[in-house]
Amino acid sequence: MAGRLDQRVLVLNRLWQAVNIIGMRRALSLVFRERASVIHAEDASHRVYPGDAWLELSRTHPPRPDVAIRTPGVHLLPPRVILLAAYDKVPRREIRFSRRNVYLRDAHCCQYCGRRFAEEELNLDHVVPRDRGGVTAWENIVTACIRCNAQKANRLPTQAGMALRRAPQRPKWRMLVAASLSDEETALWRDFLDVAPSGELPWRS
Ligand SMILES: [Zn+2]
Repeated sequence: MAGRLDQRVLVLNRLWQAVNIIGMRRALSLVFRERASVIHAEDASHRVYPGDAWLELSRTHPPRPDVAIRTPGVHLLPPRVILLAAYDKVPRREIRFSRRNVYLRDAHCCQYCGRRFAEEELNLDHVVPRDRGGVTAWENIVTACIRCNAQKANRLPTQAGMALRRAPQRPKWRMLVAASLSDEETALWRDFLDVAPSGELPWRS
């Protein structure tokens, strides 16, 4: 097996809810062990194909060489969305609290001035400063540009005459995923993830 094995695959549970993103090898294994079917993401009707039907489709509609998965028998269309046969839960996912994930949650926008910045121009801001008992947690940490961060200094937003754009919250997995997709993935997975065409998070637009 060779070709474009670096492509990521969106996993839906039996109820068509997005539950994971996995690598191509694992996705193919699930499909050909009949644990999952392929949803044709590029076909507007989103038809569902079991593994053998997907093989047949790959024979009759060969993939573009730049995306093909090359196996001894066939150049396989890359499955980009798969539907699990049995699983119908939505797993509770703990999103790791990290600088990068806070920036993703806030779409790289300073939560005081609202402008978007590159990562190196951003800081994490404790809304309630640490020495006033502010904790380092999703609900008290926001993305701030260097200038707003310096202006606020060691004060509450109200004391600094500043206002948050929105109250910081623990992000949901789907929101964080939506913020981290490539343009290609956004286009392919939009229908399954509630992603606006711009890639903006639904709760920001
Ligand atoms: Zn700012």
